[in-house]
Amino acid sequence: MVTNQRGVALGRMTDGDVDRVHERLSELLAAQSGGHIDGYFYCPHDLDSCSCRKPGVGLFLQATERWPDIDLGASAMVGDSPADVLAGEALGMRAIRLGPHVADLAAAVDALLG
Ligand SMILES: [Zn+2]
Repeated sequence: MVTNQRGVALGRMTDGDVDRVHERLSELLAAQSGGHIDGYFYCPHDLDSCSCRKPGVGLFLQATERWPDIDLGASAMVGDSPADVLAGEALGMRAIRLGPHVADLAAAVDALLG
């Protein structure tokens, strides 16, 4: 998972808060579907102050540093903002934006596989 968390830069939350949200997300995902997330990569920075904030691609590159076998060209990005789509497309990924036409992750998976 790659996520912008500008609230850290703005003082609205701490890195620990972000970690706790991710831990809870993992718990809920496991409990509700048996799924898991291999890793979380987040940008805690403010606008225009780093290369990791999407639409920058730094978070994706961090993931490929951890797992060099990731083939970004064979990967997909599902997000809810234009920045998500831009970041995914910049790396040659298929990118889907959630919204009126693709309501949720299940619909995104259908669109990717369909
Ligand atoms: Zn950043």
